[in-house]
Amino acid sequence: MRMLMMGPQGVGKGTQAKMLAARCAIPHISTGDVFRANVSAGTELGKQIESLINAGELVPDALTDRIVADRLAQPDCANGWILDGYPRTIEQVRALDAVLEQSDQRIDVVLELRADYDELIKRIHERAQIEGRADDNPEAVAKRLQTYDKETAPLLDIYRDRGFVVAVDSEDVIEDTQASIVKHLQQCGLPGVKI
Ligand code: ADP
Repeated sequence: MRMLMMGPQGVGKGTQAKMLAARCAIPHISTGDVFRANVSAGTELGKQIESLINAGELVPDALTDRIVADRLAQPDCANGWILDGYPRTIEQVRALDAVLEQSDQRIDVVLELRADYDELIKRIHERAQIEGRADDNPEAVAKRLQTYDKETAPLLDIYRDRGFVVAVDSEDVIEDTQASIVKHLQQCGLPGVKI
């Protein structure tokens, strides 16, 4: 299964994507995780992007697109993947289209997770206490949510036009949301996809 996981900050994309990827035995690819790992390891890329990430700004498309294209070319991606946090801009949608076309692959489904704004803020606040992410401060959170609304949410219309968005309410406890995702995906009966 080749899936995009979309939704605003705090909706539970990472949590749900990890569980689903384990269930389907395919890699969970989070661009945010890749970037944070580079920052922690102090790589050249990490040094280049650290201040952008901490300020809640997007990493430039060209850099992000290259990271994703390289990752999708790895052998463990041959049977599918879940992309979490990519694409976030129209440019990234085009870049992903080009990569998939070159390798004769297609996106099976775009999963949109939804939750109320107040619930998102509450979860981000809780996460900030536990994980201490540098970009979970109020200014960077506001910036990220704004960028999501302006740049990323409209991309769902593109995928809706192509006919493969499944929207799932993500306000329940983690396990119930996962069960709801699985049920929705099974109901769509995606050809060649076993869930
Ligand atoms: P969140 O969705 O909560 O903002 P992520 O872990 O997905 O957290 O991303 C953290 C940061 O990594 C983003 O704020 C941005 O700086 C960078 N990033 C992640 N994915 C992308 C992307 N597709 N394009 C540009 N920047 C990205």
